[in-house]
Amino acid sequence: MILSKLPKRPVISAFTATATKEVREDIIDILMLQDPAVVSTGYDRPNLYLSVQSPKDKYATMKNFVERHPGQCGIIYCLTRKMVEEVCGKLNKEGFSATRYHAGLSDAERRTNQDDFIYDKSLIMVATNAFGMGIDKSNVRYVIHYNMPKNLESYYQEVGRCSRDGEPGECLLLYGGQDVITNQMFIESNQDNQELDPITRKLVEERDRERLKKMTYYCFTNDCLRDYILRYFGEYKENYCGNCSNCLTGFETVDVTDIAKAMIGCTETSRQRYGANVIMDTLHGANTAKIRNYGMNENPHYAVLSKVPVYKLRQVMNHLLLKEYLSVTNDEYAIVKLTQKAGAVLNEEETILMKMAKEEAVISERKENRKAKKGSSSALDLSNADEELFEKLRTLRLKIAKEEKVPPYIVFSDKTLIHMSVQKPKNREEMLLVSGVGTFKYDKYGERFLEILK
Ligand SMILES: [Zn+2]
Repeated sequence: MILSKLPKRPVISAFTATATKEVREDIIDILMLQDPAVVSTGYDRPNLYLSVQSPKDKYATMKNFVERHPGQCGIIYCLTRKMVEEVCGKLNKEGFSATRYHAGLSDAERRTNQDDFIYDKSLIMVATNAFGMGIDKSNVRYVIHYNMPKNLESYYQEVGRCSRDGEPGECLLLYGGQDVITNQMFIESNQDNQELDPITRKLVEERDRERLKKMTYYCFTNDCLRDYILRYFGEYKENYCGNCSNCLTGFETVDVTDIAKAMIGCTETSRQRYGANVIMDTLHGANTAKIRNYGMNENPHYAVLSKVPVYKLRQVMNHLLLKEYLSVTNDEYAIVKLTQKAGAVLNEEETILMKMAKEEAVISERKENRKAKKGSSSALDLSNADEELFEKLRTLRLKIAKEEKVPPYIVFSDKTLIHMSVQKPKNREEMLLVSGVGTFKYDKYGERFLEILK
């Protein structure tokens, strides 16, 4: 390494965006930092609303979301180039202002599309994870993950591009079972690992599978989503943020001990050889060739849970994995194994309670909660502002931005325009009271905005 070749070791600083405790320690080791001063500014972004959904029709859910955010900028992340093409094409066909970005496009097209998004010419950017490095656009109001990304590091970095000006922003992750499979394929075919020796390669793959697992559990936890992420990065706060889909969903506590016992029992009696789907199919009494081939139709737990809906079995299975009553191996087979905690359940020493969403009224309750929260949080919300006026101010901002060839948010941020449309300043003094308007900006743009306000 270059450091050891220097005649005198200089002062060294290392910077990173989103790194777990392990990665931070690795950085210190690799750079051989001696007794470094470590500064972490914290991972929480309280203005971002976090949510996860597993819809049957991802496109319809996404479209519905975009329609509810007219005139706002957003990024839609997809796992593959093909998916980017598909989603962007459909959106454009239906009249949305969308552009695309992935590594398969020419440099020229990538640059044009990126500029269109930065300068608000296209409101929606549909992209793979190739998009976003070094993009500092403050008014991205939502980030939708059309597919679950490979790990929480990527996820948090990508949603981090939402509402950098501190205004409320929304992050929606659309989970589908296929996402896990696609990510597993990426791990197995990762070109970066091809040159590694077989042992290191195996270790790297195991680590990536472990990260994917943590990402997948995020999609299933019924606890606070923010807390889940912050804990992953080693930050411990309370288990309630009040601004994520789990905190705002009505849950009830359900005793699932019987289901858990059957799951653990089925895993044990089949000698811990199968994946979660085989265990669940067995308990549900599936009559398939696979189950017969494995002889699972002879298992003492075959069909004992035939009356429990499959989605509920899946929820309990995920809960047992999340709470480490069961684990899955980090290879491509993902075989379910018992943990030390499993025994206590079988011996009837432990009751297992889990939070489950109340079947009805979940959606309406969430909407009500959101509304209530909005009302109380701040007057700096567009719903309290004069929307028509805001649109006019925005149009002027875009005009100035074009004249000066700068992105609109450099002129004034959305926050400032909202402030203006709420406070309606009439002169220089009042204008200078608006958040984000200083004398420099006033001298440059103030008069033109005052004209519209008048
Ligand atoms: Zn929460």
